[in-house]
Amino acid sequence: MEDQNGENLFESVKQHLCTCSDTLAFSPNVEAVLRTPKRELHVALPVRMDDGHIRTFRGYRVQYNYALGPMKGGIRFHPEGTIETIRALAALMTWKCALYNLPLGGAKGGVICNPKEMSLPELERLSRAYIQGIYELIGPDRDIPAPDVNTNAQVMGWMMDEYSKLAGRSSFGAVTGKPLPLGGSEGRTDATALGGWYAVSEAALGLGMDLRGARVAIQGFGNVGYHAAFLGAREFGCRIIAVSDSRGGIRRMGGLDIPAVASHKKATGSVTGFPGSERISNDELLATDTDILIPAALENVITERNAGDVRARIVAEFANGPTTPGADRILFGRGVHVIPDFLCNAGGVIVSYFEMIQNADLDHWDAEVVNAKLKKKIIGTYRQVSDLARKSGVDLRQAAYTIAANRVVAAMQLRGWI
Ligand code: NAD
Repeated sequence: MEDQNGENLFESVKQHLCTCSDTLAFSPNVEAVLRTPKRELHVALPVRMDDGHIRTFRGYRVQYNYALGPMKGGIRFHPEGTIETIRALAALMTWKCALYNLPLGGAKGGVICNPKEMSLPELERLSRAYIQGIYELIGPDRDIPAPDVNTNAQVMGWMMDEYSKLAGRSSFGAVTGKPLPLGGSEGRTDATALGGWYAVSEAALGLGMDLRGARVAIQGFGNVGYHAAFLGAREFGCRIIAVSDSRGGIRRMGGLDIPAVASHKKATGSVTGFPGSERISNDELLATDTDILIPAALENVITERNAGDVRARIVAEFANGPTTPGADRILFGRGVHVIPDFLCNAGGVIVSYFEMIQNADLDHWDAEVVNAKLKKKIIGTYRQVSDLARKSGVDLRQAAYTIAANRVVAAMQLRGWI
């Protein structure tokens, strides 16, 4: 199913895989396995709303591939979610875990709902109903959910609690991205953004770009976008000149005070209307004259229609699937350095993996330990991908797909699947 721009993320993900499997010369049989989710569960979730009526929501869990280990992937609450998007995100999780050499496969889940129109008790009942619906398929050695769009540590806490009740034991390792007192890891909340910045700093080094004072435009001001803006300014010395959310964007070429923008959003519900800023559309944000562009909202936002307008030198995909294959070709042709999603935004799953280790060992690591391990993983993998891209004359996405798909295929061969 296509989105409002006529794009289908699952088709895009399969197209990217085709390009690399041509190079790898996978047989059509192997490619067919890589292009098909292993298992999908569709569930109806009846939830009592605050006014007493029962509303039935639609939920999904897609388990894409478990050749490398138990599957891992976030849960998205979104009114426009589709099974095709969840499939694509589950595939991306497979490549992400493989690229980073995590002993994990890929999965993703979602519920079609609008959390902005729901009370906290309704959201809790929906979160518990979702876990009841997918309980048979998940567990610490099967499939471990985590946060994604519109889900957070509190939602993960409810989900872990529901899983534990059904299992009849405390099972902290069943879900990651939990609150700290419930076995969450230090550094998980901003891990995706911090990991993304480690990748950007490697890219900047390669391009001879000084991050101190570099101009940055960020689409999205949720978990990933807000932390990207905050850390970009505080830890990397960048000038955040534009940010946006679903209601629109703001720009100030001299730089935005990110904590003040966050307070404004908390008070008004949006970044728009922030004093001293110019109001811009999301399209204008993407076309802003900036050094670094960070899509950190949803998929398919940079398309063939607007890729020619992008003026950034680096496009760092903190979101999943923000660039369509057509746009990718245009950006590559124009010499824009695109850091692909599953290389750039793996910080979340890496720290989730650290959380699993801590839960299994009944341990708790300091933030410094978590962040140092995260940095090492991101920078080491970035260099590996970048070296392959340079040697093969391909873009980073194709190099990353090549490494990831090779690992998944090798594991499938060793298991005797193919
Ligand atoms: P979130 O729900 O916390 O935030 C999403 C943000 O995007 C919100 O600010 C929302 O207003 C904004 N938004 C929605 N529609 C928009 C539009 N049309 N234009 C501009 N902004 C819009 O979600 P998140 O967890 O920050 O996830 C953002 C992206 O990062 C997604 O692609 C997600 O899959 C990816 N991601 C998240 C994690 C994680 O750990 N949370 C990890 C890896 C990747």
